[in-house]
Amino acid sequence: MIRVQSVAPDSIGSELGIVPGTELLAVNGRPLEDFLDWEFLTADERFLLATRLPTGEDVEYDIERPEGLPMGVTLEPPRIRRCGNHCDFCFVDGNPDGLRAPLYIRDDDYRLSFRYGNFATLTNLKPWDMERIVEYRLSPLYVSVHATDPTVRRWLLRNPEAPDIIPQLAWFAERGIAFHTQVVLVPGVNDGVELERTLAALYGLGPAVVSVSVVPVALTEFSKHGLVRELTRNECRAALAAVDRMATRALAERGAPWCFGADDLYLQAGEPLPDPTWYGEFEQRENGVGSVRFLQTRIAAAVDRLPDLAGKRIGVVTGRAMGPLMPQVLVDVAATTGGRFELVVVENTLFGSSVTTAGLLPGTAIERALSDRQDLDFVLLPAEAVNDDLVFVDNLSADELAERVPMPVHLSYDFADVLIECGVRSAECGIEGQTPHSPFRTPHHGVGKGEV
Ligand code: SF4
Repeated sequence: MIRVQSVAPDSIGSELGIVPGTELLAVNGRPLEDFLDWEFLTADERFLLATRLPTGEDVEYDIERPEGLPMGVTLEPPRIRRCGNHCDFCFVDGNPDGLRAPLYIRDDDYRLSFRYGNFATLTNLKPWDMERIVEYRLSPLYVSVHATDPTVRRWLLRNPEAPDIIPQLAWFAERGIAFHTQVVLVPGVNDGVELERTLAALYGLGPAVVSVSVVPVALTEFSKHGLVRELTRNECRAALAAVDRMATRALAERGAPWCFGADDLYLQAGEPLPDPTWYGEFEQRENGVGSVRFLQTRIAAAVDRLPDLAGKRIGVVTGRAMGPLMPQVLVDVAATTGGRFELVVVENTLFGSSVTTAGLLPGTAIERALSDRQDLDFVLLPAEAVNDDLVFVDNLSADELAERVPMPVHLSYDFADVLIECGVRSAECGIEGQTPHSPFRTPHHGVGKGEV
């Protein structure tokens, strides 16, 4: 059973009489477990929907609708699948005590992997889940592999029950499921020869493994430093050498590098990032792979059109994934515009702190981060954090957020989109003089995916 959170006015849902609190029980007699069932089972133009209204009345609807017309129903957030692993490097252990409860949630959810690109280990899949992934063609999935040797992987995950990942991926690959994969590199455990083995084993699965990223382990002062440490500069360099060897082979044999070092690996190694063309479609940019080059590419393309922002303080909201890397990008924009750009890194309080992408930031968390910032002339928000109705994942609308914070705010994919428009509409954007809260600009939607 899933429950309706809201219904869009003038939608099919509201015409039927579906209201917030309505339980969606089954489609064509098949029980609904979560949002995936809802989306896939209602994809047809005609279906039978069994519901229970908040009054307790059971109602069945025979629905026929034009192809592509949405039901207009927003569901309550799904219950997140919890992680059964206990990695020494887990971000949750890196949290200090006393934070909000959601920040201690260890999530490992293949549904969010498909939908949002969150990495999952696939260690908690039941046979029913595996069948469902195949039936709904949840592809590509984003998978934390870390190591393909079963013993090493179980050690890394601190999970003696973790299934052997290569047969598991092969099973899915035979059924048409593809993967983007990552290796979080832990020195002395899955680097060196083990990394070479892992890359070779993943490469051996063929085109089903679309990409692999190698990401240096990230720790905080609260992490289990007695059990795990960060890579040294030389270890980062050695890992990059292994990545390069694999990428060179893939380039020759498959025409694309396939294997990528995270931006942070290059930073820690003290080596320059590859050219933007290296990253192809930037498919793992939200995992910190090519993110810097992606944004720099977008900004460089717009540099002639950026306005003069001398004397202005501009806030840039982002998630934890881009936090450490954003300064490289902001230097370029500041140098071109003369503005002072200040990073506002926001924790995801809704899905848990493992969700570091800016695209899933809840509006209320952004509101909290900005509410005391009287010093900023205006703020750029990640445009991918709202849906087509300009509503954040926690149902706070962008307009509501704009009313609650003390400065104009703008949705942006890559800085240039908003800054250029602000140059044209300077008074509304806070570039000149006193400004009221600015209404949101929707033209940025559809510009393309990006990360701010
Ligand atoms: S790092 Fe990820 S897989 Fe490991 S324990 Fe934490 S949530 Fe689970």
